[in-house]
Amino acid sequence: MPKEFLLPLLTYEQTFAILVDMEDALELLDLAVGGVAMFEGSRLLDNDLRSAVLGVQRHIDRLKVLHAGLLHEADKRRVWDIAGYRDVADWLAGVTKTSKGDAASRARLGAALGASDALKQAAENGDVSAATAESLFDALADRPSGASDADVEELVEACKGADPRDAKSAGEQWRDRHSGETAEQAEERRYAKRSVRTRNLGDGMGQLTAILPLLDLRQVTNSISHVAGKPCEADERTTEQRLADGLVQLCIAYAKGQVAGGREKPTLLITTTADAYTGRTADDGFTAHGDRVPAHLVRFLAEQANLQRVLIAGAHILDLGREVRYATDAQYKALVVRDGGCRRPGCHIPAAWCDIDHLLAWEDGGATDLDNLVMWCRHHHTQKHRPGVTVLGGVDDLRLRLADGTIVHCPPKGNPAGRSATRPRTEAAA
Ligand SMILES: [Zn+2]
Repeated sequence: MPKEFLLPLLTYEQTFAILVDMEDALELLDLAVGGVAMFEGSRLLDNDLRSAVLGVQRHIDRLKVLHAGLLHEADKRRVWDIAGYRDVADWLAGVTKTSKGDAASRARLGAALGASDALKQAAENGDVSAATAESLFDALADRPSGASDADVEELVEACKGADPRDAKSAGEQWRDRHSGETAEQAEERRYAKRSVRTRNLGDGMGQLTAILPLLDLRQVTNSISHVAGKPCEADERTTEQRLADGLVQLCIAYAKGQVAGGREKPTLLITTTADAYTGRTADDGFTAHGDRVPAHLVRFLAEQANLQRVLIAGAHILDLGREVRYATDAQYKALVVRDGGCRRPGCHIPAAWCDIDHLLAWEDGGATDLDNLVMWCRHHHTQKHRPGVTVLGGVDDLRLRLADGTIVHCPPKGNPAGRSATRPRTEAAA
């Protein structure tokens, strides 16, 4: 009997009873989709149109969840491992011509659902949208060792009805809570993963992949965006192309010894509470992009920052204060002369690329004067703030005691004669 006649004549149970295989089921689905397609949107009344949009979305979500489950199984059994595909997403994108990003998103959803039955159940029931389920991928796919099944269920429960952004944030906090790591250890772990890789793509093109802590990434993109200049009206470049130009311009300028932007810090806006800033609470700060910034990191970054105090009561801004505690230009030049670059022995990062550090933190009463300021490169500055590192002595006899007890002497390096005060060294021919 032609399948077109199955639906009107049979009950659900009867219909499902005669399904022989997946192919039959897909044909049945085809038929149902064809039925929905018969009703043109332009002919629907407003109410019906509204229901149609939401109803179809519900089915799309349900199918996405089903699809992701199948995809996850396909991944586990490596059925994609044919014809040189790199992974399950690469295979799906290659065969169906969907974008790599779309395929990767489906694979992430599958992996998240595969990692938790509770999430799978919630997604199948429509308690959690496909997008929200996918946003839990990072938290669940590599489940922290301290998290039990009950903890996972608690997270899923908390994300019912949440939008993807809130769920992602809840997932991150949940991960932090159950990882058994302190905020500092988590930071250290992330920092250790930093990398820049290059790859030849053929056809005269290459690919640069940078993996960075989120704040460093924001700093990099802000800086190269700054170098690339503001897009003007006649500028037909995409954002991606502008950033690429900025990166290349910066590197060419560096190679020519023309980099002079050492003191211009493209702005990174972070909001935090006064209590978190002074260490009374450990509330996260947030960037203007909505990235979470752990409290200890906010305090670390605040050392380099201009602070703007905002006093708020409800929706009313009562007071705006501005406190600049960044070294003045005169102090900066004096520091360049005295320290000559990063104070760690053996480090050759020039002054223009260094951070200025308050030995006694500003919020602990440390003054912005030369007896309390030293230069570190970003790497050694980060190291100085790691748990277990203590500062001994003052700017003249500065020593660091590392976590393992090693004492490192960090004398000022001075400014070699003839060396430009604000630029990396390039030897003149004459
Ligand atoms: Zn250094």
